[in-house]
Amino acid sequence: MGRGHYGAGKSVTLVMLQLPIYLDHNSTTPCDPRVVEAMLPYFSKKFGNAASRSHSFGWEAEEAVEIAREQVARLIGAETKEIVFTSGATEGDNLAIKGVFEAYASKGNHIITVVTEHKAVLDTCHHIERLGGEVTWLEVDAGGSIDPAELEAAIRPTTVLVAVMYANNEIGVIQPIREISVIARRHGVLFFSDATQAVGKVPVDVNADGIDLLAMSAHKLYGPKGIGALYVRRRNPRVRLAAQMDGGGHERGMRSGTLNVPAIVGLGKACELCGAEMASEALRVSSLRDRLEEGLLRIGGTSVNGNREDRLRHTTNISFRGVDGEALLAALGKDIALSSGSACTSASMEPSYVLKALGLDDDLAHSSLRLGLGRWSTADEVEYAIRRIGETVALLRDRAYR
Ligand SMILES: *Cc1c(COP(=O)(O)O)cnc(C)c1O
Repeated sequence: MGRGHYGAGKSVTLVMLQLPIYLDHNSTTPCDPRVVEAMLPYFSKKFGNAASRSHSFGWEAEEAVEIAREQVARLIGAETKEIVFTSGATEGDNLAIKGVFEAYASKGNHIITVVTEHKAVLDTCHHIERLGGEVTWLEVDAGGSIDPAELEAAIRPTTVLVAVMYANNEIGVIQPIREISVIARRHGVLFFSDATQAVGKVPVDVNADGIDLLAMSAHKLYGPKGIGALYVRRRNPRVRLAAQMDGGGHERGMRSGTLNVPAIVGLGKACELCGAEMASEALRVSSLRDRLEEGLLRIGGTSVNGNREDRLRHTTNISFRGVDGEALLAALGKDIALSSGSACTSASMEPSYVLKALGLDDDLAHSSLRLGLGRWSTADEVEYAIRRIGETVALLRDRAYR
């Protein structure tokens, strides 16, 4: 190991592996076959428009949508009327932030968010600034968490929204959601959370957690791409939201457009499966993650980014000092699918803004990999990844010092 060769005895298990192996579940997940099966009838046989009230094709589609709405609501402890279907979390983030900003313009124009949010939140908040709104950008500590006291100090009489993600997509760190919601509530400010990485992986309950708006996406929880949901609280308080899409008044006027029935059915089924299997899956996947992390840390010159306590159990983000992350990815790319940070920024050569917010310098941020395990990850894949990454890191370091 570490010399570019596998021990002869180990290669037996390697032959059975299907390459490339997928360790990028924070970018997207495969659709669960049970989800695909549930969706199939709604493409052809049951093709009705859920808004058609005058015939059975429409009723059938509407019934399927309402069952899915119930499945989504149950997973996050919401009521069905509080679920608005969207095209995904990007749209949910936009609708929540722009919708609240517009609807509460008479109260104020100030929003508080965090520098490590997903681009869909950051760029929406930049848009709010261009509209004349004011945004406070909270920093995070070295572990990736915000300081609730800092959040409270940032609240003004004109603050209309606090937007803090549930769990980070690059490092998996879970924010102190309940402390945040208690503060927001105390000051009468709405709390929006982009929970795209958390829903289906950890127990999320909008009432226990005190969340007023929540965005989620099907393709991060073994459902199809292009569908998601926004939770909008109806009681204590009743959240008002300005629609960002005008049209037929679907989704109680909050999101017009013919519903994507097959995808909605898929989202519902994916939520049901997560609800039923979350506890056992988390145990299995977290032991794989811990094994992977332990193996990679043994390489040396390595460190985990973000605090390791309050963290998604399938995610780890590791820096390999002295190794260029892009070179590492390129060398591994054929056999292991993973990412050097968020997929949205890794196209550019900018180091991850999330890792920089933790205090990493450019070099260290550039030397990092995000690894995300999933429903079908295996112990063999983890062992392979440890060996393969280990030898590649050794090779690149060797080259760098020559
Ligand atoms: C993936 C992701 C998004 C974007 O979701 P889409 O459904 O792909 O638009 C937003 N926020 C977070 C935290 C994500 O992980």
